[in-house]
Amino acid sequence: PRVVFSGIQPTGVPHLGNYLGALRNWETLQTEAAPGDKLLFSIVDLHAITIRQDPEQLRRHKRECLASLLAIGLDPKKSIIFEQSSCRQHAELMWILSCGASMGYLSRMTQWKSKIGVGETEDALGKKAGKTLKLGLFSYPVLQAADILVHRATEVPVGEDQSQHLEFTREIASGFAALYKDVFPLPKTVLSPAKRVMSIRNPSVKMSKSDPDATSRILLTDTPEEIQNKFKKAVTDSLGTVTYDLKERPGVSNLIQIYSHMQRRDDFEAVAKEFEGCNMTQLKTRVSECVIEKLGGFRKEYERIMNESDGYLNAIAEEGAKKANESAEGTMLQVKKAMGLI
Ligand code: ATP
Ligand code: MG
Repeated sequence: PRVVFSGIQPTGVPHLGNYLGALRNWETLQTEAAPGDKLLFSIVDLHAITIRQDPEQLRRHKRECLASLLAIGLDPKKSIIFEQSSCRQHAELMWILSCGASMGYLSRMTQWKSKIGVGETEDALGKKAGKTLKLGLFSYPVLQAADILVHRATEVPVGEDQSQHLEFTREIASGFAALYKDVFPLPKTVLSPAKRVMSIRNPSVKMSKSDPDATSRILLTDTPEEIQNKFKKAVTDSLGTVTYDLKERPGVSNLIQIYSHMQRRDDFEAVAKEFEGCNMTQLKTRVSECVIEKLGGFRKEYERIMNESDGYLNAIAEEGAKKANESAEGTMLQVKKAMGLI
């Protein structure tokens, strides 16, 4: 049987990149699951705190994140939906794995670099790192490896920015097998066709919750007016016509990709042809209309869930925590036995 694991950081309401690159895939995997498969989806709050979070805001983001997962169709009866910090084995296994994780490998990872300074030279980063880089942000991939391995996941549906961390996870898992015992299956990276949705303000960086420019991302909870306004401000170019050319026209091409992926189409050239004779304003209007229509159902469901009592969401989180603990504890026993800890 398959074990699927994936996570999302409670650093804000999920955006179109999260949805197309990961969340929509999670829902599909849930629908297609065979009897005996296990699916775990986690709100990874311990990852979120690698950057300083305001406590009240973190609590609110966690609630919004859980409501979002339910609103896209994840079902607590079919999937284990839980908060990472409610399953202590993640942090426990992280310590164990960190004893076998190489600093050299971790220092080559790009995520900590992009979180402390985008586009800086290695030299500048090195200097900055000495002052501002925290151990938790640096060792983030080890916690991520623990998230996946503690449930002995076989498949991990993520966006392309996580491929590097998945490779690292496999490396850690085989390292453990070489030193002790073959406890962990090697998890496969599962990418969706929309593996990297770009910022609509700067098509050279991916759409992110943590981008300081709020107009760079479309939130799943945005109103039709907000969606329209953000697409109006989307950065394109001055050519006036619509063609698909990822290299020369990254802004326009990103809009075409978003439009296509929303409709589960992947022939971008053919889609671009349908916009023949359209100018940028018309393109943006049609992309907005498409996104507004496809997200309408989500927003309604999200609002319904957010209007439920705290007890409703807490009960779901508690049930998820209980199941996640059961799932993780079996692995921890094997790990500790293999290492002589018990
Ligand atoms: P942050 O900026 O706080 O890191 P984020 O937008 O990167 O937030 P995460 O919670 O880190 O979101 O990632 C959740 C999932 O969404 C991951 O599987 C990640 O690979 C995927 N994802 C994030 N951004 C994109 C994107 N622009 N395109 C496709 N997938 C994405
Ligand atoms: Mg991220």
